Amino acid sequence: MLHADVLILGAGPAGATAALNLAGECRVLLVDRHAEPLPRIGESLPPAARRLLTDMGLWEEFLAQGHAPCFGNRSLWNGLAAEQDFLRDPDGHGWHLDRARFESWLRDKARERGAALRAPATLGSVDACADGWRLVLETPHGPLQAQARILIDGGGRASTLAKKLGARRNRQDRLVCGWLYGEERGAENHDGLSHIEASAQGWWYSAALPGQRRVLALHTDADLPGARLLRRGGWLDAAARAMPGLGPVLRNAGFRAAGEVRIAAAHSSQLQPGCGPGWLAVGDAALSFDPLSAQGLFNALYTGLAAAETCSRALRGAPQAMRDYRQQLVSIADAYRQHLDFWYAQETRWADAPFWQRRQRRSAHALLAASSLSG
Ligand SMILES: Cc1cc2nc3c(=O)[nH]c(=O)nc-3n(C[C@H](O)[C@H](O)[C@H](O)COP(=O)(O)OP(=O)(O)OC[C@H]3O[C@@H](n4cnc5c(N)ncnc54)[C@H](O)[C@@H]3O)c2cc1C
Repeated sequence: MLHADVLILGAGPAGATAALNLAGECRVLLVDRHAEPLPRIGESLPPAARRLLTDMGLWEEFLAQGHAPCFGNRSLWNGLAAEQDFLRDPDGHGWHLDRARFESWLRDKARERGAALRAPATLGSVDACADGWRLVLETPHGPLQAQARILIDGGGRASTLAKKLGARRNRQDRLVCGWLYGEERGAENHDGLSHIEASAQGWWYSAALPGQRRVLALHTDADLPGARLLRRGGWLDAAARAMPGLGPVLRNAGFRAAGEVRIAAAHSSQLQPGCGPGWLAVGDAALSFDPLSAQGLFNALYTGLAAAETCSRALRGAPQAMRDYRQQLVSIADAYRQHLDFWYAQETRWADAPFWQRRQRRSAHALLAASSLSG
């Protein structure tokens, strides 16, 4: 039997952050289905992450990791070219991460600070008991019994643990992302910018990554024709090159696609409730964001840190701790929705295209709801 004060399912950015911030104070068991983080899209880290990394005592070490600086976002949205320059940001520039390296490093920090890591392992069953929770973990060597006072779901969009405890996910759209990696061989590679461009079927994204690599992605809805095109060999690369903004970026960077297009869920969704007696959810398990916000990793670090503080208070017997955490999640969800609706409402060129119609309708409803509340 493994004994922990806090058991965290999922050693992604959110789960590992919760673990490394709790490890000095209590017994932490971190569990993940993968022995090592997998390569995956999601590399833009906004400048404000500096404050969180500093608060966690990780900033200097993060700098030594060699991630690529991101100096701003260049967008072609509603026919207008715009640049958001991070030089004017009080937190400095952002980052294009080597995502697998970043995640391995967070796991290592959790272990260094005293957390135990079990990977690969998944959740078999979970039951409430007098002093918390009893779990069965499935491992390649057979089932393992575990006991913990508090559980954290850091398992990403699937939120497997919270769903077993009765929570439900509220999905707000059907956004998916088709993406591929490639090499950069041109003279103008590593421009240090995130490129975003709207098109009738959705929006495009590309960024240079550490190690002469680049990521290219299209976001559209799962039920629209664009999502089917993503599965057609060579289509993503060719369609991106025909875009007025992205085409020249790819050509100047000497971009050469390498490997197959991968498709990932990218919809907005919210776990309801985001915490309960003796458990809480962090990162995507609590709130998953449309990548247009570029706030998923920040939210993972933020909620990971907030959950660690919540557990620490709850273990010391503070009855208000979980309620305060739930209120924090509500505030994050409200701010996120307002910003996202605002950005989609700015693109008005394709009033007949389902992708944009859906988002315009949503923004209009949100505006109406806000004005009736304030009236
Ligand atoms: C297409 C796309 C692009 C994105 N781009 C960006 C971006 O540029 N910038 C940004 O900030 N964010 C981006 N995001 C969002 C960002 O990737 C997520 O918000 C972030 O990964 C959330 O971290 P997490 O730890 O909550 O979840 P995850 O990263 O999903 O980690 C969950 C962990 O739990 C483990 N796990 C899951 N289920 C189980 C189980 N049953 N048992 C054991 N282990 C389990 C997984 O193996 C994984 O390690 C993007 C997302 C998508 C879909």
